[in-house]
Amino acid sequence: MGKFHHTVSRRDFMKGLGLSAAGLGAATVANPGFHDLDEVTASAGGELKRAWWVKENDFGNPATLEIDWSLVKRPDRSKISTFPYRNSTHPTAVYNKEHFAELQKSVIQHAAPDWEADSIQDLAMSGATLALRFYNYYTPAGKTMFMGYQNSPTPADRNMARWEGSPEENIRLLRHASRFFGASSLSVTLLDEDTKKLIFEKESNGKAYVFRDVADVEETATEYIIPNRFKYMITWTHLQATELTLREPSTLGQSASNMAYSRLPFISVQMQEFIRGLGYHGINAWSGEMASSNPFGVLSGAGEHGRFGFAVITPELGSMVRGMCRMLTDLPLEPTKPIDAGISRFCLTCATCAKFCAFGALSLEDPSWESLKEADTGVPYSPDGFKGWRLNTVKCANCTACQAFCPFNSSGRSSFIHEFVAGTSSITPIFNGFFANMEEAMHYGNKDPRTWWENEEYLYGINPKFI
Ligand code: SF4
Ligand code: SF4
Repeated sequence: MGKFHHTVSRRDFMKGLGLSAAGLGAATVANPGFHDLDEVTASAGGELKRAWWVKENDFGNPATLEIDWSLVKRPDRSKISTFPYRNSTHPTAVYNKEHFAELQKSVIQHAAPDWEADSIQDLAMSGATLALRFYNYYTPAGKTMFMGYQNSPTPADRNMARWEGSPEENIRLLRHASRFFGASSLSVTLLDEDTKKLIFEKESNGKAYVFRDVADVEETATEYIIPNRFKYMITWTHLQATELTLREPSTLGQSASNMAYSRLPFISVQMQEFIRGLGYHGINAWSGEMASSNPFGVLSGAGEHGRFGFAVITPELGSMVRGMCRMLTDLPLEPTKPIDAGISRFCLTCATCAKFCAFGALSLEDPSWESLKEADTGVPYSPDGFKGWRLNTVKCANCTACQAFCPFNSSGRSSFIHEFVAGTSSITPIFNGFFANMEEAMHYGNKDPRTWWENEEYLYGINPKFI
């Protein structure tokens, strides 16, 4: 990330904010880290891999999310349905299913008041992108994600020594490979007695995840056996097609999510085979298996916990991350640091996603230690042990609208105004209400689905400013 430059004068910018110099002065008194605009814009960022306003905390201390590890229990995945809404008889779920089309339309009409229905080309695109969604490369090969595809020769097969690098060298190697395969960013969490609690007790098929002092990974009829030396949880992000994401929740816009889910297993197999080729093993979990993605995304600094609850918001990709993968490995890796980019604080005053969730699945309340009650969700599980937001999965119709309205989507790696938004909210929340209202009033993020067909489309649908 280069240095932050802008061409708007301080006076013009403050006029745009509706603030006087005195207003800005008050902000600086309350926030000693932020003295004036010149200081903000002149802050060094050259040596940092991330923008200057993304602060790093020590591993194990995600300062933007309070965690009480004594309350965290290993979840039993066999008792959790990822999409309980689909089969639920809970009255809210039934209502949402019966009224899906009209609720979806009411949101689309925010940016396109005369929009009435999906066109045939919209539906054709949706059908095409659904064709390979969650395609499982392991099944036709008779393999499992736990043991791996096992197609790539190992160092022993090549009569060569395995790769031996320092943890820092190893993460650089993986980052390089993962970018080539199509992942946006890669981060690492160290598995200790606390973070181990995030691994499911049992998988959806009823098999138990067990850690033992054994030499090799093994899968039996009842267990996934993990050697204790597997301490490094890799996470990587998939960026959705950016212009289509801004056209969610239309069926056309949802093609962005479909495409990401199609690429996800493809990248996973290659990551796993790359690690095998180095002489190590990656236990893969790409679609909800082994552990939830959000805690590892926060702990490793991929992003911050936000009002969405179920997906991290990243400083670079906003809410356009889909299906963040996990892979547990014995390749020694340096854990990456949790971040504070002001995102969670921005969510406190923003709540735009919750306002545009026509299905009532997102909370308008402040973060809470309270998990959701079964009477409200119809499901016997809601995560405990953190002060944050939780998605009501029985109400969530997976319409994807919440992604389309998040102000952090418009940032990319270059835009002045959003870098400034993110920069100021990482230091002071004083402008958050203003920026959230700007998103709602001008809906410069969410767009009319019909306009997508008029644009020259980017390769893989991704605006280069996010690459
Ligand atoms: S939480 Fe998001 S995906 Fe779920 S119903 Fe609400 S807007 Fe749609
Ligand atoms: S829309 Fe606003 S409240 Fe929702 S995740 Fe984005 S920043 Fe947070």
